[in-house]
This record gives sequence, C-alpha cells and structure tokens, in this order.
Amino acid sequence: MSELTQQFKQFAAEHGAALVGIAPPERFADWPAEHSPMSIAPEARAVVAIGLRITRGTLRGNEEGTNFNTYGVFGYAWLDSDFVSLTTFECAEYLEDNGWEAAPLFPFPTEAYPQGIAVRKGAPAPNVYPDFARVAVACGLGEIGINGDLLTPRFGPRQRIQLILTDAPLDPDPLCEEKVCRECLACAESCPLGAVSVTEFDELTVAGKTMRVAKIDYAKCRVCQNGACPNKYHAAGRPDRLGAICNRTCVDALEARGAVGNTFENPFRVRQPWGIDATGQLVDVPVKPMAEQLDKERE
Ligand code: SF4
Ligand code: SF4
Repeated sequence: MSELTQQFKQFAAEHGAALVGIAPPERFADWPAEHSPMSIAPEARAVVAIGLRITRGTLRGNEEGTNFNTYGVFGYAWLDSDFVSLTTFECAEYLEDNGWEAAPLFPFPTEAYPQGIAVRKGAPAPNVYPDFARVAVACGLGEIGINGDLLTPRFGPRQRIQLILTDAPLDPDPLCEEKVCRECLACAESCPLGAVSVTEFDELTVAGKTMRVAKIDYAKCRVCQNGACPNKYHAAGRPDRLGAICNRTCVDALEARGAVGNTFENPFRVRQPWGIDATGQLVDVPVKPMAEQLDKERE
C-alpha cells in the first residue's frame, strides 16, 4: 500500500471512520453517465467510501417500540448529516492539505434525478448522484443483500456511507469476497406489509460482482410504521429502512449466525418482535428471536 493511502486511511480512522473503501475509476466504466461518480469529477483517480456504524443500541428503542427518536437522530439524521459528513469533510481536507482535490458527496437519492438541464453536449443533466450502496460495493466494503441494502462483514446493515471523489492516486481495495447475506429470507418474512418478495429476485452486478436481491415494493415501505423513515433529502427517494423490522431482523439473523465481526455479549432480539400492518393495526410477526430459533434447530 502506498504511503499516501496508508496515511489517508489512518487519518480517516482517527477521525471516526469505521469503514474506508477505495475504488478506481474503471469500476464505474459501465455505469450510466447520469448516475456515475465519474461524471461529477471526470479527472478523479479514486472514489472513496467512508462509513460510520449505526450503533446497535441506537436500534433498541425501535426494537422495543418505545422510542423512535433515538434512531431518527443518532441512527439517521445526525449520524448522516453531522457525524459521517464531518468525518468525510475532514478526510477531504486531509487530501487537499496534501495537494489533491477532494469532492465530498452526501447520499442524495438517485430517484430525484434530474434537477436541471445539461450544460454541455454529451454531459448528463444535474444533479448526478450514484447509488451509494452500489458505490460501497465497488469500493470493496461489502455486498447488497437480499433486502436490497448494503451489508458489510463488520456491521451487516448497520452503517451510513458518504463519498469522496479525488484525483489523489490512492490504492484501490479489492472487492469484498466474503458472503455476508445468508439468503435466509428472515427480512422478508418479518415484514408485516409483505413488501419483500420471497419468490422473485433480481440479479445485480456491480464491478463484476453479482448479487441476488429480492423484488421490493418500496411503495409499501413508504407507508411502513415499523421503524422506516421518509427519505430526509427528497420525497422521491427510497425511504430509510435501516431501523425497520426487516433490517432489525437481519441484524439479529446475522449476529446469531456469527456472520458479522462486530459482536456482543447478548443477543440483539430478546423478545418476540412487534409489527404494524398497512391499516395501522398490531399484527403477529412470524419471526422469533434468532438465538431462540437456532437453539430449536440444534435440538
Ligand atoms: S435477513 Fe437474511 S436474507 Fe435478509 S438480508 Fe439479512 S441475511 Fe440476507
Ligand atoms: S421498510 Fe417496512 S414495509 Fe419495507 S420491507 Fe421493511 S418492514 Fe417491510
């Protein structure tokens, strides 16, 4: 690893980054111009994904159904807009202090495109934004799971990502070889609205890495009362589902199977989860705490 890359990663870690991944421009060669990071900074030599964890305790109030505000701020609003963005900005400053241009990017939703007209022939209209989960895969941080969200070997679905596009010659990271999603479908089975298909899947390829993703009815996620939040940047964007029962079930499923590096003394899910259907009524969720389920399978 070059000295610059090593020192940059060390700086990022010392300034709060739990995850750093670097992709070369070639990994985006087949991306449409309107969603390619390379359209924003054509001279960039590296795309950097920086992630901070959603702490497991941030999900506790959602899991118990007793406090949604903690996740709303420490897991979503502040985490993204204050904590991840501060680390990302400091990392951009580090690169610029060393003579390299660094453009930071926050996760504005791709669904809100376009927002203006193209200013030169062959250029896409503004505002170009890539899908951040896919960029994170291209940067080697993890994979897209059956649930349609980024899963990393360290935190499963518990992280938020921002990006830096830079002309610094940073060394790329390899794609993540580890299979994180166990394709257990527990996320789909736990959804009280049936938004995640258990029979229909799409194949998604990013930088040559192919993943299987369930067909997801995001219209249902938009009205979900099980811990989902509206997209905070634009109404057209996909809702935030990381605190919803589907992803909390994934957290429990991955931990119970020893599939994530960030481990805990006690299981995440300690009682039967709650669920609310499309009419706003409490319903039974046909998913038990995973530790309990696995104990039964072992008997
Ligand atoms: S709950 Fe299971 S199938 Fe769903 S994303 Fe997590 S590991 Fe994959
Ligand atoms: S966000 Fe809600 S509706 Fe969408 S998959 Fe998750 S639990 Fe189901």
